[in-house]
Amino acid sequence: MKDKNRAVFLDRDGTIIKGVPYLSDLNQIELRPNSVEGIIRFKEKGYIVVIATNQSGVARGYFDEQTVVEINNELKKMLNAKGAAIDAIYYCPHMPEDKLKEGEQPCSCRKPKPQMLLDAANKFNIDLKRSIMVGDTPGDILAGKNAGCKTVLIEISKDYYDYKRDPESMHPDYVVKDLLDVAGLLD
Ligand SMILES: [Mg+2]
Ligand SMILES: [Zn+2]
Repeated sequence: MKDKNRAVFLDRDGTIIKGVPYLSDLNQIELRPNSVEGIIRFKEKGYIVVIATNQSGVARGYFDEQTVVEINNELKKMLNAKGAAIDAIYYCPHMPEDKLKEGEQPCSCRKPKPQMLLDAANKFNIDLKRSIMVGDTPGDILAGKNAGCKTVLIEISKDYYDYKRDPESMHPDYVVKDLLDVAGLLD
C-alpha cells in the first residue's frame, strides 16, 4: 500500500505574500522574502503544498469571489514561474462567526475550523499528523491544531499582527520568520 502524503498547509496573506488587509487588486500581490525558496524546498522534500486562506472580504461585500479566484491564480502563476509549484488553493469566502447577524449560521470552513485542511487531506491522501500548518495569526495555528498538524507561526511585522498580544490562544510548535525557515524544520 502506498504511504500517505505529507503536506505543508500555508496561509496566504502575511505568510506567502505581504499582508494587505482585504487584498483585492492583483497589483497588491507581493511575495514575502524567501517564500519561493521555501516552497521549492517543500516540494524537493516530497511535500504536497496547499494554500488555505480566509477571504471574508467576499461576505463583507468588499470584493467578489471571482476576484479571490483571480488573485489566487495570479499568485500560483507567479510562484510557478519561479519554480515553486502549489498543488491546490482552498479559500473560505464567508463571514467570521462573531460578525454574523441573528439567525445566520456560521460556515464550516473558516479557519480556525480545520475543514479546508481536511478537504485537502481527503483529496491528496494526506497524513495530517505528519503534516504542518504555517500561518501568521491565531486562526491559522488553531486550524492546524484542529486538523492534528504541527504548527508554525510566521513572525511578521509588529504593526500588522503581534502574536505576543495573544500568546495564550496559540502555542505554535515553532515560531520562525519565513518559509525558508519552515523548510529547515522538515525532514
Ligand atoms: Mg494571514
Ligand atoms: Zn467558510
